[in-house]
Amino acid sequence: MVTPETPIENLLRVGKVTSKKLQNLGLRTAEDLLFYFPFRYEDWSKILPISQMTYGTVGTCRGRVELIKNTRSFHKRKNITEALISDNSGSIKVVWFNQPFLTKILKVGNEIFLSGKVDFDRYGIHLTSPSYEKVDAKGETIHTARIVPVYRTTESLTNKQIRFLVKLVAPLASKVHDWLPVEVKKDIGLIDLNQALKQIHFPENINLVKAARHRLKFNELFLVQLQNLLLKNNLQKSVAPKIIFHEEETKKFTTALSFKLTNGQRQAAWEILQDVEAGKPMNRLLEGDVGSGKTIVAAIAVLNVFLNGYKTMLMAPTEILARQHYNTFRNLFSGLNMRVGLVTRSEKKMNRENGEKNNDAEFIINNSDLVIGTHALIQDGVEINKLGLAIVDEQHRFGVKQRQALKGNKENPHFLSMTATPIPRTMSLAFYGDLDISVMKELPVGRKKILTKVVPPEKRGAAYEFVKKEIKNGRQVFVICPLIDPSDKLGVKSAKEEYKKLSREIFPELKIGLLHGKMKSEEKERVMREFLENKINILVSTSVVEVGVDVPNATIMMIEGAERFGLAQLHQFRGRVGRLDFQSYCFLFSDSDGEEAAKRLLVMTTCNDGFVLAEKDLEFRGPGEIWGVRQSGMPDLQIATLADYAIIKEAKTAAENFVKEDPDLVKYPDLRDKLGNFLGKVHLE
Ligand code: ADP
Ligand code: MG
Repeated sequence: MVTPETPIENLLRVGKVTSKKLQNLGLRTAEDLLFYFPFRYEDWSKILPISQMTYGTVGTCRGRVELIKNTRSFHKRKNITEALISDNSGSIKVVWFNQPFLTKILKVGNEIFLSGKVDFDRYGIHLTSPSYEKVDAKGETIHTARIVPVYRTTESLTNKQIRFLVKLVAPLASKVHDWLPVEVKKDIGLIDLNQALKQIHFPENINLVKAARHRLKFNELFLVQLQNLLLKNNLQKSVAPKIIFHEEETKKFTTALSFKLTNGQRQAAWEILQDVEAGKPMNRLLEGDVGSGKTIVAAIAVLNVFLNGYKTMLMAPTEILARQHYNTFRNLFSGLNMRVGLVTRSEKKMNRENGEKNNDAEFIINNSDLVIGTHALIQDGVEINKLGLAIVDEQHRFGVKQRQALKGNKENPHFLSMTATPIPRTMSLAFYGDLDISVMKELPVGRKKILTKVVPPEKRGAAYEFVKKEIKNGRQVFVICPLIDPSDKLGVKSAKEEYKKLSREIFPELKIGLLHGKMKSEEKERVMREFLENKINILVSTSVVEVGVDVPNATIMMIEGAERFGLAQLHQFRGRVGRLDFQSYCFLFSDSDGEEAAKRLLVMTTCNDGFVLAEKDLEFRGPGEIWGVRQSGMPDLQIATLADYAIIKEAKTAAENFVKEDPDLVKYPDLRDKLGNFLGKVHLE
């Protein structure tokens, strides 16, 4: 008896090897298989009389095996299986290549289905390598003569094998408990879960495929929406410090800057200040393209939090960025009596203005008004007394876990996330319902467009000459490589190799620096500082400088193996230059001569808008890779995608109605169950 919990290796015909392959697809139990949905279908449902299986026909027929034998092809020593199949209307020849075992499976006299294409060549008119299946007593098929499901698979695990196993577990579909409340199903016209699970694998017709997909997509999106709403509700119920706007000091601070704020910056800062004054935890995402000046907006918030006697914590994705922020904020607030501290995992050093040395993270945190660090800041579970504001830079959001780690005794801090990743509307509707979003579309005035070129191999020399010229003029250069270490297999540029080559052969007279994620953090810090002080002319780096790094004197961004990066990511790299009013350049080198890659890179040369590039990325590579949807607190999407705009809206409305009526889902134990421990975590107050 197969139950949902039956381990995959206990299923019929699953040996060690197959079990390993299935596990690589994330399939461990019978239930996993039941929820492993096909990504497309082939419609072989129409059965034609053999007489209609003429040259060029793609279709299914049913007939009797009259003859079947193996032969060898003349030249290539290929194994060929030839058969003759007939029904009342006629007969047809069938040819299979390199499947000699077929003569053991299909015997003269067998009734079989064949689905495939009729071809004509030296074997005459024949069905070429069709799928085959014996007609069983019940007349049920899974590989032919129906709408056939096609599953994503890997390493020599065939769709036939997967279909066979799914068929084994399919009866479980009728036992799965349907947790979606009847009202919702009725309202939207969704089919039952049992029905959906059956039809998604072996559909009776195309309409039922649609209905099944609708139901299963709705499942995923509805849960996401519910989570978002519950999170939002619970945050709104909790108390946060009232941060009163200190207008005079804020004005003083902004007028002291060497530039005028853009309208986008003003607007965003205003939205944030309004939020934090309300006494409820702010939960806002600040979205602004690379170089749009998000740091200053954050600084205005930090200033006001400080003036209200509260602390701020700022988390950055890398140590390099944390250290840069630390320097920036110390400069920005040098006129104030604000204590700024830095905490990172590898060296929890006291890094305060007064030069005190103490290695204890907790000490730094307790003695700072603004503490900056990597995620190490909250992983240790240190409690920050009087935390008013938590900021994450270059992240889309705070996860539920992070929020929990930061909850105070009585008050919750305000949350601000900052990202340069433009988020398409569907995406924000689907996944960011719990956030308020501020968008800064404009860049500070005076920025020149970065000239972007895809450089062919024969122009590499010319590009290097150009680099020399720029450096002579005092400017600096980034060189990005996809890997740290050389790799024999891939032929992809590595930072270490490139560093050697540039410093020994190409630019022996210049100072070259190397930066990658595996270096000790003191090393990284030293290199970054030397680059910032223009003691290094060319910095060879891996993607560790992708986000946030600010070296205004750098004007050339060279990217090796550019085809290996997404457009949004390339845009981020490119954003490392052009940060002052020097004309800046981005040179893309590609190791591939693939057409697709070339087309993708060419987009970079004409488009300078992060939003548009993100949309293009979606087009070229699909959402998963770019957006990192698998962030904490979100279920993985199996079947729903960002393109399911209509269903996203349906799910949102349904979830809203629910939460309005029964915010704690008291009347819906099934739903509570489904949300599992998320509900426990969500209660933040
Ligand atoms: P990002 O939004 O990518 O984080 P930053 O905050 O690092 O951008 O700002 C990029 C650069 O632009 C910094 O050197 C910053 O000092 C400068 N900057 C920020 N706002 C303005 C402005 N309104 N006018 C001119 N330069 C600005
Ligand atoms: Mg930034």
